[in-house]
Amino acid sequence: EYIIQNEQLLPKAEASINFEDRGYYFGDGIYEVIKVYHGQPFAMDHHLDRLRSSAEKLEIPLPFEEKKMIDLLMELLEKNKVMNGLVYFQVTRGVEPRNHLYTRNSTAVFTAFTQPAQNLEETQKNGVDVWLTDDIRWLRCDIKTINLLGNVMVKREAADQNCQEAILHRSGTITEGSSSNLFLVKDKVLYTHPATNLILNGITRQLVIELAEQHQYSVVEEPFPVEVLEHADEAFITSSSVEITPIKSVKGQLSTTFDVGPVTKDLQAKFKDILPKSN
Ligand code: PLP
Repeated sequence: EYIIQNEQLLPKAEASINFEDRGYYFGDGIYEVIKVYHGQPFAMDHHLDRLRSSAEKLEIPLPFEEKKMIDLLMELLEKNKVMNGLVYFQVTRGVEPRNHLYTRNSTAVFTAFTQPAQNLEETQKNGVDVWLTDDIRWLRCDIKTINLLGNVMVKREAADQNCQEAILHRSGTITEGSSSNLFLVKDKVLYTHPATNLILNGITRQLVIELAEQHQYSVVEEPFPVEVLEHADEAFITSSSVEITPIKSVKGQLSTTFDVGPVTKDLQAKFKDILPKSN
């Protein structure tokens, strides 16, 4: 199994990380996760755009040109013979003696690895249970940073309640999941939090909105209160890893259940249509 460290493909065992990388001290870095279907990365251009946007917001210099990044990632997929899986890549600000203040002179560090994909068959068909809890994260959730403690803590909290995902609210307004975006459906209209600083604008979220609108669904991107969950017809989460996964129950600060509904199923089918096919 190979990984990428800066511009090199190396066997995983040969990777070595510098002790003074700001990624360690401060979680000072950004990342992306791309799903791979039949050896082909899906929506790579969207992910690279978002990486660039995260980098700009944090003044993290990207270590090399996009073309080089794509070439390296494709080489990694080939080397690891990834047909259906995930590729994770991150850029940390690089190595400096520990100091909160960054200098703008560091050399960014690029790393990447691949993972097998989860089997989504059961959860996509029957849905998942989610845990409604407080959004304890910071106010720049639009940046895809590796500093994920708020997300990590609520994911554990959800799992301890036998829920597969945590759904978060800030003072009663639903934001998103710990590693996914949330959609509600009511009378065939889709509702989701707008792409502000309070959520990560998921690539899957963007594609689902596009698909829905192309197929004559209305999509309302407005904040809504937790109580709306009780009146929705359907609910689902989206991410590169879980695609469109229905919610079958909400537990925690509010309890309700959903059937896997026709709009969710329709969008799942339409989403499958845009995924890379085998050659
Ligand atoms: N929101 C958060 C907090 C995430 O971590 C993720 C992905 O991991 C998403 C949303 C979904 O983003 P995407 O569809 O780009 O995978």
